[in-house]
Amino acid sequence: MASSFRQDEPGGQAPAPGHPCPVRRCPRQARAGQLMCGPCWALVPRPVRGAVWAAWRDGAGAGTRAHTAAITRAIATVDARRQDAP
Ligand SMILES: [Zn+2]
Repeated sequence: MASSFRQDEPGGQAPAPGHPCPVRRCPRQARAGQLMCGPCWALVPRPVRGAVWAAWRDGAGAGTRAHTAAITRAIATVDARRQDAP
C-alpha cells in the first residue's frame, strides 16, 4: 500500500517532497526523513548531532521523549547560531 506514495504539489516550483525546515526564519525545505535542511544541519555541533542519531535509532526512537528532546536542542542550537550571524 505504501509502495507508491507520492506527494505532488500543484503549482510548486520544484518537486520538493519533505517539510519546511523547523528552524526559525529558515525559508528552506527539509527533505523527507531529515530533521532540517542541509545548511541548518551543518550548523549543528557534532555532539548534538550524535544525540539526535542516538535517540532516532533508525526510526525506532521517533516520537520518544529522548528524541523530542534531542531534536528540540538541535533546533535551538541552530536558532542561536543563526542569530549570531550577520
Ligand atoms: Zn534550515
